Amino acid sequence: MSELLTPPPSSAPEGANDAANANDAAARSFAELPLSPAMQANLRQLEYLTMTPIQAASLPLALAGHDLIAQAKTGSGKTAAFALPLLTNLNPRRFAVQAMVLCPTRELADQVAQEIRRLARAADNIKILTLCGGATMRPQMASLEHGAHIVVGTPGRIMDHLERGSLRLDALNTLVLDEADRMLDMGFQDDIAYIAKQCPVGRQTLLFSATYPEGIASLARRFLRQPREVKLLERHAGSKIRQRFYEVKHEERLQAVGVLLKHYRPVSTLAFCNTKQQCRDLLDVLHAQGFHALTLNGDLEQRERDQVLIQFANRSCSVLVATDVAARGLDIAQLEAVINVDMTPDPEIHVHRIGRTGRGDQDGWALSLCSPGDKRRIAPIAQATGGEPEWHGLGSLQSGNDAPLVPPMVTLQILGGRKEKIRPGDVLGALTGEAGGGRVFTREQVGKITVTDQTTYVAVARELAGEAVRKLTDGKVKGRSVKVRALED
Ligand code: ADP
Ligand code: MG
Repeated sequence: MSELLTPPPSSAPEGANDAANANDAAARSFAELPLSPAMQANLRQLEYLTMTPIQAASLPLALAGHDLIAQAKTGSGKTAAFALPLLTNLNPRRFAVQAMVLCPTRELADQVAQEIRRLARAADNIKILTLCGGATMRPQMASLEHGAHIVVGTPGRIMDHLERGSLRLDALNTLVLDEADRMLDMGFQDDIAYIAKQCPVGRQTLLFSATYPEGIASLARRFLRQPREVKLLERHAGSKIRQRFYEVKHEERLQAVGVLLKHYRPVSTLAFCNTKQQCRDLLDVLHAQGFHALTLNGDLEQRERDQVLIQFANRSCSVLVATDVAARGLDIAQLEAVINVDMTPDPEIHVHRIGRTGRGDQDGWALSLCSPGDKRRIAPIAQATGGEPEWHGLGSLQSGNDAPLVPPMVTLQILGGRKEKIRPGDVLGALTGEAGGGRVFTREQVGKITVTDQTTYVAVARELAGEAVRKLTDGKVKGRSVKVRALED
């Protein structure tokens, strides 16, 4: 391992490892990078004007061909930091897999593939394939036969394809390990080793990780060639994340979450517990109090996980309850609050948790429930987040607003998806058009539309959910009648 590179001083003020903070005067433009004019134009169109700090630190090295170990928190723009180099290394006229990204889960693979697609718009006809478990092998094999330039997938499934010979890597020039720490947590090191052995030795390898446990160093020693290291220290702009600590008795903890929610009334809240059991218990308490809450854990089937994430992201679920493992890597754009239901003993994880809120130009609340036993954990955490902890009592909140907290949207589930060639525009058209009779919806009354293989989800304003179901059922989507129901229990 060679020199340790800290980010250039101009791009590393305190808290600057936020996509939004790259907007400050010292931020560096993509224009200084050796990228094609078409790519530059595409970046401007995507409104990627300045590089985030991790991008500013890693792109010049990666574009110069170096292997890289890059560490920065979730939401810091790591995807573009590896997507731009891998796209630059690509020859669109060559029909072979030239780049591969390994991700820990299907959701992350989908997110990465989506981001690469956006960035790849500049070049013509680059084919990107996701290969993950949970989907049937056969269509994946057929797609591979048709040829793909870039493959994004989970290690287990990629290994399956390599063993069957349906995936060949002899033309590979870029290998990316995304969320490498999480892949190690999930026990993928042997699969990764197997896969890396199938890649040409002359390839470039880029390793991205949110944390830097010892396992990463040994992984890097095995698969990377004289890698450069880029680490961004975890610091947040204190101004945007307002952090408050609440002292609670241990047995009040779960009830206290409802008190905070009723007081602060965030539209979307991510609530962290330290164990799966605590997640289940909290969910029961929140449901009993009438909150719209869902939980994310490893026991859910893929389809259920998708539904949870979709409902949370489109604002039809107020609270997502999760452990650190379950919540890793998820990119949720608008998050008004993070609640630490259980404190984590690890300051780095704490910083990571609360960094999910206060993104972009929005403010965010980071609320932590501390029992007397937690108190000794607060000093190092306060130090890591730069400042004196601000203590509050729950008592001051009890008299707050007692109206139920209701999410603004409801998710409707439409049977039929990508397989039926349904596109978001078809659903929007069905709701905002005259056809099918009933109310003509405005664009503002329709939220996020997500099309999956067999199902389409659309968020609609809560008070209009019934009308929307009727309109979609009576009318047609993509020229055919569809089954629709609201995802509410
Ligand atoms: P990470 O992998 O570090 O968690 P992502 O790559 O998912 O972060 O990026 C987080 C968000 O920031 C994405 O929505 C992405 O589109 C956006 N983003 C990334 N880089 C930039 C940039 N330079 N300017 C504006 N937005 C960006
Ligand atoms: Mg990422």
